[in-house]
Amino acid sequence: MTVPRPSALGERSGSGSASTGSELVDHLKGLGLTSLAKVVPGVLDTARQQQWSYEAFLEQALGVERQGRAVRAHERRVRAAHLPTAKSLESFDFSYQPALSERLCRELAGLSFVATATNIVLLGPPGVGKTHLALAFLGTALESGYSGRFTTLRQLADELETVTWRQQRRRYLTPRVLVIDEVGYVRLTASQAQQLFDLVTARYEQGAIILTSNRSFAEWGTLLGDEVLATALLDRLLHHAEVLAIDGRSYRMKNRLSASLPPMATAATAPTP
Ligand code: ADP
Ligand code: MG
Repeated sequence: MTVPRPSALGERSGSGSASTGSELVDHLKGLGLTSLAKVVPGVLDTARQQQWSYEAFLEQALGVERQGRAVRAHERRVRAAHLPTAKSLESFDFSYQPALSERLCRELAGLSFVATATNIVLLGPPGVGKTHLALAFLGTALESGYSGRFTTLRQLADELETVTWRQQRRRYLTPRVLVIDEVGYVRLTASQAQQLFDLVTARYEQGAIILTSNRSFAEWGTLLGDEVLATALLDRLLHHAEVLAIDGRSYRMKNRLSASLPPMATAATAPTP
């Protein structure tokens, strides 16, 4: 986009019918067309220099506004989602987890799971990329215009206890994708377990849940302190769900191992004592 030339802004077109640049900017701001307001002098300059048709000018101007709105809406969705960090499928090394289906992950990133309110359950020991994949799916959903929310079970459990939970609850009900990370590190009280069950039930067939856990389903009775409740919760969670069990090696350990070994070249050229 051409940088606006302030000297050209106030120029009238000769007939005296054109508004000044600043009036135009005021109109645009007044109408909430803030992205266009920022760049309209430059667009006008280019339009004059390149003798655009009225259609080409209008198309360009409205395109700028639409693009700006899309960017701002995405930023709002990202803020509302409380992502701890951004991760992508592109940065996930599938060769490190050969048992994990890359095809299924790519298919899930196509986001039909959001439209069908299908849950994704990522199971496996620490460091295998469960949170990474959950964030990648959530990030893709946010980019595609869906709302989302990330939380860990610990954070959620704290909220479940508060007196304002009834009001907070909709923050976890309305997003199209809810990530509940790290199920398995905290044991829930009876009332927390009941509230979690209610949340999962309320989202059932309504909104997708992406859940990560280092525990097998058999251990959920202990986690929730109630076998019957755990069975009923898993029943709803897993009815429409893709379960990805990642039982490979920890990626964190990979980095640690390679960091602790001297690089071959350095070892070969190191001076002998
Ligand atoms: P988990 O949630 O299973 O404990 P994380 O997703 O937090 O594991 O992964 C730990 C770190 O390793 C993160 O920085 C993550 O981005 C990275 N990581 C894990 N698996 C992979 C992988 N296969 N390719 C690239 N990075 C990975
Ligand atoms: Mg994790």
